[in-house]
Amino acid sequence: MKIGIIGAGAAGLMCASLLNKKHEVVLFDKNSTAGKKLLLTGGGRCNLTNLVEVDEFLESVKQNSEFFLSALQEFVPKDAVDFFNKIGIETQVENNSRVFPKIGRATDVRDALQKAALEKGAEFRFESSIINIEKIDKNFALTVLCLKTHKKSIHQFDVVIMATGGMSYPITGSTGDGYIFASKFGHRVIPTRPALCGLQLQNPTRVHGSTITCGIAVVDGNFNHITKKETGEMMFTKNGISGPVIFRTTSNFKQKNISSYFLQIDFVPHYTKNEIEEKLSTLIKENPKDKIFYVFRKFVPQAVANWLVEISGISKTKSCANFTFAEKQKFFSTIKDAHVKIKDFDSIETATITRGGIDVVDINSSNMQSKLIKNLFFIGEILDIDALSGGFNLQIAFSTAATCANWLSQL
Ligand SMILES: Cc1cc2nc3c(=O)[nH]c(=O)nc-3n(C[C@H](O)[C@H](O)[C@H](O)COP(=O)(O)OP(=O)(O)OC[C@H]3O[C@@H](n4cnc5c(N)ncnc54)[C@H](O)[C@@H]3O)c2cc1C
Repeated sequence: MKIGIIGAGAAGLMCASLLNKKHEVVLFDKNSTAGKKLLLTGGGRCNLTNLVEVDEFLESVKQNSEFFLSALQEFVPKDAVDFFNKIGIETQVENNSRVFPKIGRATDVRDALQKAALEKGAEFRFESSIINIEKIDKNFALTVLCLKTHKKSIHQFDVVIMATGGMSYPITGSTGDGYIFASKFGHRVIPTRPALCGLQLQNPTRVHGSTITCGIAVVDGNFNHITKKETGEMMFTKNGISGPVIFRTTSNFKQKNISSYFLQIDFVPHYTKNEIEEKLSTLIKENPKDKIFYVFRKFVPQAVANWLVEISGISKTKSCANFTFAEKQKFFSTIKDAHVKIKDFDSIETATITRGGIDVVDINSSNMQSKLIKNLFFIGEILDIDALSGGFNLQIAFSTAATCANWLSQL
């Protein structure tokens, strides 16, 4: 069979590496090299997968975990590790069961995958952007625009595998083209939004660059929790906040629009309210002339303390010995239970992954084939499946690719 794979990213490369040699496989990518996004993963070290048990893995999958289960069972993280070891990538397990190549270079992972695909006889066509797909009788006709010569050509395939990725980090080539092709074939596309990304705040903090461990939750205007409280490292950015705890929070947030919500921040998650009260009494006794800034400073970094003074509404000039009951309450609520208005998610340009995509209702979970169009398959981030950071998203790409490849290899 002649199989056209659109996208030579993590999913497309894995699929081509596992497809039976008897098939004639061509991979198209608009970039001049394979796996442009793969090279960015894990800060260039590539967090390949995660070796937690299946149940825990599925808990980390925030969208359509039930659908993903059969693909995960088809190609579990241990299978990915064995596969990479077999193609020459030694691996090591780091904290939180995350798996990295021992050599610590994403380029080696990409090169090994590409070599494995070439050894299976796959042909790569780079700087080749697919601009149209038509179904003509039993075949697919792909219109390819050569980005070097600007010439168009049409190529016929028995099977087409869409591995075009999501919308995030479009500089890597994933610009959502697959959604347009799929909707032309009647596929529903769940509206996309950035995920595993930072948040922009309504009011600037001017704390850019500081990092602090916080407890975070998204709450509505009535302070009802929309996400559970997460604790971890938070980083202040130019427009808002980012970091692992914010990534987890944006992944747990189910709605598309976040702009009407607030972020509830506990700047001292390791202190109980009683412990803070005791510490405050001691501070007041020992340094009665200290202003509010110095009180905050005892708990948080300097730049954050400055900002907390601003949002607390407590007079900058008042000595702590003269704090009223109401001012003490303001202090507690600012440091333990601050509410800041969210403006939006950070842009899709800098988001790690895309939430949304091809509705899995129209996909057969046992082989990733479209239920609407025979011989059309969807693998990787194009699908409406996403997970937390930690190697889970690449495993989604690998497992869906393997499920598709194993099924096609039997034909
Ligand atoms: C900065 C960053 C760090 C990350 N780190 C990790 C990590 O450490 N671990 C982890 O598990 N996940 C990580 N991820 C997520 C992970 O990279 C993605 O989930 C994964 O790459 C998705 O693979 P994919 O093959 O589905 O899509 P992509 O890797 O996006 O590949 C899609 C390919 O399709 C091509 N394409 C698109 N449209 C067309 C077209 N019309 N014609 C031709 N070609 C086309 C694109 O050029 C692209 O090469 C990270 C993401 C980012 C942005």
